[in-house]
Amino acid sequence: MSPSNVIAVGAGVAGLAAALELAERGLRVEVIDRGRALGDGCCSWMAGGMLAPWCERATSDAQVVTLGEPSIAWWMRRFAGTARRGSLVVAQQRDAAELTHFSERTERCDWLDADQVAKLEPDLAGRFRRALFFPDEAHLDPRRALPALADSLKQLGVPIRFGVDAQAAGLRAELVVDCRGLAARDHLPDLRGVRGEMLMVRSRDLELSRPVRMLHPRIPLYVVPRGGGVYMIGATMIESEARGGASVRSTVEMLNAAYALHPAFGEAEILEIGADLRPAFPDNLPAVRRGANVIYVNGLYRHGFLLAPAMAKRVADAVFDSSLETSDADLRQRRSARA
Ligand SMILES: Cc1cc2nc3c(=O)[nH]c(=O)nc-3n(C[C@H](O)[C@H](O)[C@H](O)COP(=O)(O)OP(=O)(O)OC[C@H]3O[C@@H](n4cnc5c(N)ncnc54)[C@H](O)[C@@H]3O)c2cc1C
Repeated sequence: MSPSNVIAVGAGVAGLAAALELAERGLRVEVIDRGRALGDGCCSWMAGGMLAPWCERATSDAQVVTLGEPSIAWWMRRFAGTARRGSLVVAQQRDAAELTHFSERTERCDWLDADQVAKLEPDLAGRFRRALFFPDEAHLDPRRALPALADSLKQLGVPIRFGVDAQAAGLRAELVVDCRGLAARDHLPDLRGVRGEMLMVRSRDLELSRPVRMLHPRIPLYVVPRGGGVYMIGATMIESEARGGASVRSTVEMLNAAYALHPAFGEAEILEIGADLRPAFPDNLPAVRRGANVIYVNGLYRHGFLLAPAMAKRVADAVFDSSLETSDADLRQRRSARA
């Protein structure tokens, strides 16, 4: 086997980003996934696609900002559909204190008055007296962004084989980059699933051009525009590993909140109701871990699209940068074999 032979297991956002970063740096890479096609059985397919490091600071460690900020440029270089129009954060009048708390826990935002809200999102005119605007944030459609990464891999000669289960396949590669999401718990026992439920709707009467978050003490909501009147509405955060479709309660609560954001959602057509489990470590931060012949990339929690580029870079640096300390004898051996 050539020392540059790598198999990335998992064609979610972690696996595709890592494979692309390695292939761009000249390694011979292959991607395998047990799903039948891109997105099948893959948490990344259900994501909102918000690249919102400063908003996420409200509930996340500062590392999410440090690692997430450069990923916006990473996505803009690799996926033309990445839109950088900022994020708008609103709250109903009775929850106005939530906005103040949010501003205290986040960075890089401006206060807007009702006129400024109307200028930014005309369809929200007259609905909110104040709002927060995070001008540097971006968003993308995961169901277009993942195929774009797959296309870039194809152009670099990286095969993606679907319907191949890593466990059954008996992988033969010098290095495996394990990006199996929650399925990697057999080797990463501290991984847990955090359930997220979402909806896709289409409204012919509403036009929003950027993600809008509506704060609420119990049911915070976000709406991400996909274009053509389609919106992703999300998402619950439930400490449960129950599989299966979204519950009636979650669905009703999210739809009620969307209706409170704008009554046009009341007439919207429901296109999809879905749920998946976000892979998370106990500190809710992602990690790149090493084993013999294997690098694990996991724990992307609610920041898969935001943090996959930083994790991909970490993987590539571990493989290429001989000045990096590593506890893994196999990686050291491989570097000296190349030198
Ligand atoms: C409702 C919801 C909304 C979200 N919104 C956002 C958001 O707005 N922004 C953001 O950044 N993140 C968001 N996330 C989080 C994001 O979706 C996850 O962090 C991310 O998808 C995790 O990616 P992953 O590649 O690690 O895992 P996955 O996407 O699950 O990919 C793992 C892949 O491994 C494959 N696999 C598993 N086992 C095997 C095996 N044995 N052999 C071969 N292949 C295997 C699977 O088929 C799958 O394709 C959201 C998540 C949810 C649920």
